[in-house]
Amino acid sequence: MAENLKFFEQVNRNFDRAARLTDYPKGLLDQIKICNSVYHMTFPLKRDDGSIETIQAWRAEHSHHKLPTKGGIRYAANVNEDEVMALAALMTYKCAIVDVPFGGAKGGVQIAKWKYSQSELERLTRRFTFELIKKNFIGPAVDVPAPDYGTGPQEMAWIVDTYMAMASNELDALGCVTGKPITQGGVRGRKEATGRGVFFGIREACSIKEDMQKLGLSPGLDGKRVVVQGLGNVGYHAAKFLQEGGAIIVGLAEYEGAIYNPKGLDVDQVMAHRKETGSILNFPGAQNLENTIEALELPCDILVPAALENQITTENAPRIQAKIIGEAANGPVTAEASEILQQKGVMIIPDMYLNAGGVTVSYFEWLKNLSHVRFGRMGKRFEKKVNTQILELVEQLTGKKIPEDIFESIATGADEEDLVNSGLEETMINAYHEIREIRRQHKDEIDLRTAAFLDAIHKVARSYFELGIFP
Ligand code: NAD
Repeated sequence: MAENLKFFEQVNRNFDRAARLTDYPKGLLDQIKICNSVYHMTFPLKRDDGSIETIQAWRAEHSHHKLPTKGGIRYAANVNEDEVMALAALMTYKCAIVDVPFGGAKGGVQIAKWKYSQSELERLTRRFTFELIKKNFIGPAVDVPAPDYGTGPQEMAWIVDTYMAMASNELDALGCVTGKPITQGGVRGRKEATGRGVFFGIREACSIKEDMQKLGLSPGLDGKRVVVQGLGNVGYHAAKFLQEGGAIIVGLAEYEGAIYNPKGLDVDQVMAHRKETGSILNFPGAQNLENTIEALELPCDILVPAALENQITTENAPRIQAKIIGEAANGPVTAEASEILQQKGVMIIPDMYLNAGGVTVSYFEWLKNLSHVRFGRMGKRFEKKVNTQILELVEQLTGKKIPEDIFESIATGADEEDLVNSGLEETMINAYHEIREIRRQHKDEIDLRTAAFLDAIHKVARSYFELGIFP
């Protein structure tokens, strides 16, 4: 059965479903689908107690149709070659969907992160980077990693520092990795970007009256009941922005258990409670669910799995109550479960689109690194001056004073974070309508995932045609 399929086969099964709707030659479709190169490395790590451990790690570059390749690095106990290849493939399609000019890649280091001290993680990350450099699997023009499950700005800082130590004369070296801290060449808004993109995508989907009517929902986010699984970088930010956007967070799940309150949970208060007690369980006013996976079956309008792949399977899909599933994680719904959910009329907003906010803002970070200037630095003062002149003229002509706070907010020019968030919002909204339009062209007989795959296949195919490789 399909659920015994490996993750990469699952991705390819979805690819094939869309590919059948095109008339591209088989050779071209195979070229798009195949993983171009995989580097499996092992290296020793000296633990703090003096013992030596062998670490397994991978970097997969799925598609070189555009360079550099781009994709996160995952630190997880069970990450393996198949998973890294599957995630690299998703990156290729994701970049195409949001028009980010990269091929797809992904990296993985097979460790349970909590077992290692900070200094062990630093040694490991630097050694992993060194292995990537040795085989030309990293570089601003070659392959640019980013954070993923189990990694964040700290790991990216160690990576850039190691890379720069090895490539001291390379002018664009800062662009070798994204998701860096601001002080190390990062861009404002990157940390929140994936979660913010998830919010923009879900908000856009919910804003379309006709689609919501089909689901028996009213348009808009206001009052929609949301359950989020995984409160890491993506899940926490998605939950927070959805709450700020008017949704009610009724359920939250972490690996230690889940909590439910139909009246709503305040995301930041839950995070503070978890910090204090070490668990989200026993949050005041909420009901505990010891079996965390059951959170996916809670009554809600929107379910946001934001932890790991294969969370919704044929086993639990029939019991899912949500009308919309926003795939914030990569591959949280198996291909077979997707079919069950589609038959139940559930709308799945696919991962390759919905969590593309991270790579979109990574693209902005890479551009910032190549241009060696902060976004907004050149124009902000000029914009403020021109806006102030216009507002003063309006005051003069109307004889009315504009309230100070409104004056200030209109006059102030855009800073880096404003520009990043605005570019992200534009990208997520445009890409949603592109996918929806493809679904409409197929008379709504295909789901959004197939439409997203079609979008990606067309765009990657076009770049091969333009290269003249295929007639
Ligand atoms: P993260 O490590 O910051 O957070 C993951 C969270 O999920 C952790 O808090 C972990 O404890 C929790 N978790 C693990 N197993 C769980 C379970 N069974 N039930 C409930 N919670 C569980 O990782 P992240 O960066 O937020 O990534 C999450 C997902 O989003 C992954 O699939 C990743 O590939 C995808 N993603 C991440 C980014 C990014 O920018 N970080 C971009 C695109 C996609």
